[in-house]
Amino acid sequence: QDLFQSPDYFNIDDLLTEEHKMTRESVRQYVKTGISPVIDDYCQRAAFPEHIIEGLGNLGCFGPTLPVNYGGGGLDYISYGLMMQELERGDSGVRSTASVQGSLVMHPIFTYGSEEQKQKYLPKLATGQMMGCFGLTEPDFGSNPAGMLTYFEDDEDDAGYIRLNGAKMWISNAPFADIAVVWAKNANNKIQGVIVERGMEGFFTPETKHKWSLRASATGELVLDNVKVPKSHILPGALGLKAPLSCLDSARYGIAWGAIGAAMDCYDTALRYAKERVQFDRPIGGFQLIQKKLAEMITEITKAQLMNWRLGVLKNEGKARPEQISMAKRNSCAVASQIARDARQVLGAMGISGDYSIMRHMMNLESVITYEGTHEVHLLITGMDITGFNAFK
Ligand code: FAD
Repeated sequence: QDLFQSPDYFNIDDLLTEEHKMTRESVRQYVKTGISPVIDDYCQRAAFPEHIIEGLGNLGCFGPTLPVNYGGGGLDYISYGLMMQELERGDSGVRSTASVQGSLVMHPIFTYGSEEQKQKYLPKLATGQMMGCFGLTEPDFGSNPAGMLTYFEDDEDDAGYIRLNGAKMWISNAPFADIAVVWAKNANNKIQGVIVERGMEGFFTPETKHKWSLRASATGELVLDNVKVPKSHILPGALGLKAPLSCLDSARYGIAWGAIGAAMDCYDTALRYAKERVQFDRPIGGFQLIQKKLAEMITEITKAQLMNWRLGVLKNEGKARPEQISMAKRNSCAVASQIARDARQVLGAMGISGDYSIMRHMMNLESVITYEGTHEVHLLITGMDITGFNAFK
């Protein structure tokens, strides 16, 4: 049986174009041969599989929706979603690497950067020749990034430069990134994006150790100790919190698809196991309580697939609202987390073994449900949207 058969209970493939299916197939094949066989080992060692950077770059997973002249793939949002789904079927950490590079580094440079910044960074980021990270979260400001303390001011001695001070934490890709898009307050207390390059004096990226989740993704801090940065590194088009939030929207859209990729892998694994594992002289898939778990898994996956597909159509038409993306991100993460837990139970003791992917997905999803806006924060966004009342304040 093909381990990578996508569950498609409602013939959603009929809604996809040939290009969508080809894109999905190429990433699926790469994950099947290049990631799934080795990823458990990297997770167990909490090591980032560096070789995937070249692979993901070759497949066009970095910035696939950006125009071709900047190194992007010129693909639509459904192709992008399917790519993220297949990557996360392999591992959420692998998908995170691609999400950060495409949505949180290339997207802001493309959307808010100067022509010079775009030419300098985007083509190299698209191939993976250069890797980036996105620094928004701080030790004291996670769900509420508006309160951030990181700031910059004009260099007193050198008119063409600023001095950047502050600290960011929980930053994906930070330990190996060549550049960081850092969000900081200017002298007028307005948030702006600054491209910081590795090697600038006073810039350090210590790795965050002891994670039980996203172990194959490198996470770190950004320490910014009076870093002298040329003013030409400020993103000219970004002013205010809306700019980093628009990047998060793009990444959240990918997460909505990605988390369901992880759920599909858990479902596939549990279904296969339930058909083969015999207890009380019959396959456990014949027991009603096991069937309940599997039937609910495929129902939730199907509902999420339909929501993601429709959201992709709205994105392609430029009509997807941030609140709709919040709902899809929240739903996919919650559904995938529950499916991972149920799938683990279907495998009994085997469910905790690294020989199967389920426990790894389950632990990864604890990060995925938290980053890019927590489960609670996205619920409050829906609440505010439907009632008109802001529950954050
Ligand atoms: P807090 O904001 O302190 O929240 C703690 C709890 O309180 C949560 O349950 C939250 O939902 C709840 N809460 C907060 N406010 C409210 C409210 N108003 N009402 C109800 N409940 C509330 N950040 C980046 O900038 N770049 C990255 O690349 C990045 N990568 C990450 C990778 C990993 C593995 C992880 C775990 C995190 C990453 N993050 C990154 C940070 C992530 O975005 C934050 O963890 C997230 O925004 C939540 O912030 P916090 O952890 O400070 O939690």
